[in-house]
Amino acid sequence: MAGQQAQRSIHVGGEWLDAVSGATREILDPADAKPFAVVAEGDERDADAAVAAARRAFDEGTWARTPVAERAALLRRVADLLVRDREALGRLESRDAGKTLEEGRVDIDCVADAFRYFADLVVGEGGGRVVDAGSEDIHSVVVHEPVGVCALITPWNYPLLQASWKIAPALAAGNTFVVKPSEITPLTTVALVELLVEAGLPDGVANIVTGPGHSVGARLAGHPDVDLVSFTGGLVSGTKVAQAAAVGVKKVALELGGKNPNVVFADACATEEGFDTAVDQALNAAFIHSGQVCSAGARLIIEESVRERFVAELARRASRIRLGRGTEEGVECGPLVSEQQREKTEAYVASALAEGAVLRTGGRRPEPTAGRPATGYFYEPTVLDRCHREMRVVREEVFGPVLTVETFRTEDEAVALANDTEYGLAGAVWTADAGRARRVAGRLRHGTVWINDFHPYLPQAEWGGFGKSGVGRELGPSGLAEYRETKHVYQNLAPKPVRWFGG
Ligand code: NAD
Repeated sequence: MAGQQAQRSIHVGGEWLDAVSGATREILDPADAKPFAVVAEGDERDADAAVAAARRAFDEGTWARTPVAERAALLRRVADLLVRDREALGRLESRDAGKTLEEGRVDIDCVADAFRYFADLVVGEGGGRVVDAGSEDIHSVVVHEPVGVCALITPWNYPLLQASWKIAPALAAGNTFVVKPSEITPLTTVALVELLVEAGLPDGVANIVTGPGHSVGARLAGHPDVDLVSFTGGLVSGTKVAQAAAVGVKKVALELGGKNPNVVFADACATEEGFDTAVDQALNAAFIHSGQVCSAGARLIIEESVRERFVAELARRASRIRLGRGTEEGVECGPLVSEQQREKTEAYVASALAEGAVLRTGGRRPEPTAGRPATGYFYEPTVLDRCHREMRVVREEVFGPVLTVETFRTEDEAVALANDTEYGLAGAVWTADAGRARRVAGRLRHGTVWINDFHPYLPQAEWGGFGKSGVGRELGPSGLAEYRETKHVYQNLAPKPVRWFGG
């Protein structure tokens, strides 16, 4: 971007820095492909410096020894600062990731909720679990301690939200960290680190390196001074991260992709109101943030008897979704995040059509308009009917606005289809029959199951996947446990010789 000064987006040991190499990267607005910010482009050397700072800060122990109530108070201050800056941060997220303004604002609310949740969780805990050792001369207690230096690697679809699900519990537990946001959407994570500094976090506790995955991310994942790697992103990079971390036997948490079924039984559509709700939510499940959601309901699995009516109405509504610049009020769907993402989507649609899918709506780039420039990465919400489980578009994560339709006749068939994925992040069942709802929910092999709903999550409930959707959980008590080591302290109050050896 001609003339624009690069933001010092690398924060190491309390200082804002340029990249060691001096390299910079332009951040593009996906609605017109024009740069609107410039950040430092770090590499392995910046990652090393950040890990060294985090290591020093952890080993000095200031943050880990800070009383829990004070750590929680700081997290709550961060939540208050997020509320103060909600509009600016929401706009920035919307522009950077191409999501609508309303989604951007809601993301910031959810980020503040995550900070408050983990503050409440640590304050509400007792100071360890006393274990009955079978003797009054023994005092035995199990305590939790911070794991150490955490490398936090995040994706571009929910840049700040995914970062907050890692940063808030890591800090609540007393760790230090280095965060590496996606190289294409780093801006709100940089802003969050500024807020952590403003809230009074000691130097060296929160570090950020902006830069690519193959250099900064890979270095963090394999760095000998990193104790834990928490990664959210795709299966391919996640596998590399797990391999790099395995060399040093680091703790690893992986939040990967999904190919999420939305199972609709005919009885859910028996009334006009039920039909309207199920169609509306199927639309929301598949197309919010243009389908670039790990838990997107990209597979509609519908009972054969209602398929035609349901899909016709769904396609009608999908064709009316208002596409445009996310930052414009009234727009319902923004662009895809990058040209690469759009081309990937186009390739999946082409392969589906070649394999016999029937296009009901979409399947192309929209006509440009004043609010939707030709240079933006727009793609029409697409409904592909008559799909089957052998198709690539049904098996692999598209991460674009593409909904596939499969049908079933029996409950067993519905469950078999819904579980026929290597992933297992989330899924939904729509039915008016409470017994069936519980039965099907019990049989779905997915980390989150919605009954007559799609997409809500709660900070107090664990999030994560079965199968190749990941390892470990975020949010909830398990989301805090990821960032801790467990220690058993066994104290003998009346030590005596054991005389195992004669002496
Ligand atoms: P990605 O895997 O391309 O990148 C994610 C992050 O990893 C980025 O910061 C990237 O720079 C970094 N990275 C890439 N290669 C790396 C390597 N070899 N070593 C270390 N770091 C590396 O994913 P993306 O395209 O940014 O995000 C989309 C993916 O994220 C989708 O698959 C989506 O399902 C997944 N996702 C999952 C969840 C969840 O909660 N399970 C949430 C959001 C997104």
